[in-house]
Amino acid sequence: LVILLDSKAQQTELEWISYPPNGWEEISGLDENYTPIRTYQVCQVMEPNQNNWLRTNWIEKGNAQRIFVELKFTLRDCNSLPGVVGTCKETFNLYYQETDSEVGRSLRENQYVKIDTIAADESFTQGDLGERKMKLNTEVRIIGPLSRRGFYLAFQDVGACIALVSVKVYYKKCWSIIENLATFPDTVTGSEFSSLVEVEGACVSDAEEEADNSPKMHCSAEGEWLVPIGKCICKAGFHQKGDACEPCGRGFYKSSSQDLQCSRCPAHSFNDREGSWRCDCDDGYYRALSDPPSVACTTPSQVSEVIKEKVQQRSIQLSWQEPQQPNGVITEYEIKYYEKDQKDRVYSTVRSKSTSATVNNLKPSTAYVFQIRAFTEAGYGTFGPRLEITTQEEATAAIVSSEQNPVIIIAVVAVAGTIILVFMVFGFIIGRRYALAGPIGLSAPVSLLKFPGTKTYIDPETYEDPNRAVHQFAKELDASCIKIERVIGAGEFGEVCSGRLKLPGKRDMSVAIKTLKVGYTEKQRRDFLCEASVMGQFDHPNVVHLEGVVTRGKPVMIVIEYMENGSLDGFLRKHDGQFTVIQLVGMLRGIAAGMRYLSDMGYVHRDLAARNILVNSNLVCKVSDFGLSRVIDDDPEAVYTTTGGKIPVRWTAPEAIQYRKFTSASDVWSYGVVMWEVMSYGERPYWDMSNQDVIKAIEEGYRLPAPMDCPPGLHQLMLDCWQKDRAERPKFDQIVSILDKMIRNPNTLKTPVGTCTRPISPLLDQSTPDFTAFRSVGEWLEAIKMERYRDNFTAAGYGSLESVARMSIE
Ligand code: AMP
Repeated sequence: LVILLDSKAQQTELEWISYPPNGWEEISGLDENYTPIRTYQVCQVMEPNQNNWLRTNWIEKGNAQRIFVELKFTLRDCNSLPGVVGTCKETFNLYYQETDSEVGRSLRENQYVKIDTIAADESFTQGDLGERKMKLNTEVRIIGPLSRRGFYLAFQDVGACIALVSVKVYYKKCWSIIENLATFPDTVTGSEFSSLVEVEGACVSDAEEEADNSPKMHCSAEGEWLVPIGKCICKAGFHQKGDACEPCGRGFYKSSSQDLQCSRCPAHSFNDREGSWRCDCDDGYYRALSDPPSVACTTPSQVSEVIKEKVQQRSIQLSWQEPQQPNGVITEYEIKYYEKDQKDRVYSTVRSKSTSATVNNLKPSTAYVFQIRAFTEAGYGTFGPRLEITTQEEATAAIVSSEQNPVIIIAVVAVAGTIILVFMVFGFIIGRRYALAGPIGLSAPVSLLKFPGTKTYIDPETYEDPNRAVHQFAKELDASCIKIERVIGAGEFGEVCSGRLKLPGKRDMSVAIKTLKVGYTEKQRRDFLCEASVMGQFDHPNVVHLEGVVTRGKPVMIVIEYMENGSLDGFLRKHDGQFTVIQLVGMLRGIAAGMRYLSDMGYVHRDLAARNILVNSNLVCKVSDFGLSRVIDDDPEAVYTTTGGKIPVRWTAPEAIQYRKFTSASDVWSYGVVMWEVMSYGERPYWDMSNQDVIKAIEEGYRLPAPMDCPPGLHQLMLDCWQKDRAERPKFDQIVSILDKMIRNPNTLKTPVGTCTRPISPLLDQSTPDFTAFRSVGEWLEAIKMERYRDNFTAAGYGSLESVARMSIE
């Protein structure tokens, strides 16, 4: 309440105007609590036609529109007064007059507006006065809406006996409050009882209005705040504490007004001021411009997998992989190098905009140490691992030099000859030892010996001209040698057909022909031929063989050996339960051998899965689906992960999912999954679990259980491939030899007694057309590229195809 007039609060005389002079009279008295008060009384009950006026002083109303007038009075009961019938009254009238300022002391009745006739609820008699217990009446009247600056109240007595004990004039307002971080000012209520006054709130300091939701409240006629709408929120760098916004402490930040709390600075960042909206990166750590402040600062990822492309006497050519998680766009690489044996290391640097560089002006026969780092908008990354390379000897130069010293030439030739001889003899001995190792010495002995200069895989992307890469690794075929017969599938770039290839002077052969659809873009052509550039580098019985390409005619084609049984997953599902364990292990052995070859060449497959293995009519499995890492994008199993890029989650090692660490060891993990697919005849790994659940389960140590009928030794091998620590996983050459041992000792492939097994209906028993196509064991062995075991089969009593068909594990 805002009080405009309270007669009781005034100790001095009120000095209101009374007219006529013998009417209302100001009298001092005591209230019920013995507090001195000022009252006005009138009691002209004997005389008729009374008209006594009393007017207050001018009351300035301020903003108020609706004024409350509270009157406390006592009134004498006319019945208790003898001889007053007809003249005594028991009511009085209340009036007001609005003015903008004080007017004179004269009273003009007609300028007053009547508010009401006031009657007493209780009146008192003579005897009551002695008790000092007044029968006090309280009446409240409301006036308004008022429009002038102030007003007077007037009381008209028409012959009653009244004592006006107190007159209180007030209005109501809603007092300033803070609600939802907005301040609402003192607000005077509306003029009408039913009106609400809408008030806009102002945000407290360091707060701002929530978008499209500005704060509002409503002040009711009773002076209460009602219906808050909208709100303010603490600005970035500030958080709410009670009705205020306080700055985030040091080491904390709040990046947006939308966040509720201040958060601790993310890893490798700091701030030393209060009220921060973000934290700064520690020295040497960075964030990309596009990174939100919640992202930890990191060092740009290192450049790794540096390959020496060409080592000469005075120059070295290097290439490397782009870091897998660069901190923004890489604009440049810096190659730092120094002479290894130099005492005071003097670094030199070379810069390159691509992922290769040639360092010139080196000394011959000198060991150099190289390190490479990437430069992004976030600054320099850390240097990658040190790579030591020794330049070529000058001796070679001597041979071609003009001096042509015969002594040096003889010495060099003699040394080189001795080296070659030593390798040949050594290779022969080792080769023989392996060849004699077992009755079915399945391992390829010579490939175990790695001569220096083993062929390595070259990423076709490193070629500036992709056409050159294709023709470096693939034979250009004449379109007239190719006969397309029918469409067998749909590839990413166009139809896959089967047909025949007849090269001059060679037997015609079945081939698969991948075509590039018309209307291709240059990039599509490049990506399409990229698979040929990769496949053309491989030559292994368990890797799909490229026959050649047609790039000079249309359609552009890739011609591959024909794999009659299509992809392994579908093939296994079609023949569920129809193979012996030995046959299944034979398939696995083939895939492992193909992968051993690829990993030896330094090729990381990244998408090894049964769907990417092709099977020919002799059940020989071959690794297929090559290309660049982005080829995975076309795999329907590949899904986007949080680390970016598409990944076939169920087949991929955790480190490759988490930080794109694809290596031969991650291929080994995938190989373990392929083993599981094969032993379960094409069951989907992790069944219908979601990818997210698979990632979680693997992280928590869960591994796929042994498929039905799977020999424990094979499941153990799968578990080894699924070691969390990739260094603990077996290498492909170890996998091949383990499988070879199993094939040589079929006892190891027995399922333990008591295990529930499925009835086997071996494929060989079903007189399949594939098997009956052979006339002898020798022909069959030749077809499956195992002809060198012909003698082993004869010695073991498997002379006829029939006896081979009946061959059981025992
Ligand atoms: P791709 O584009 O390599 O995934 O091939 C599409 C489909 O064509 C595959 O799923 C196979 O069924 C089939 N296919 C691809 N290459 C061959 C091949 N060399 N022999 C037989 N079928 C193949």
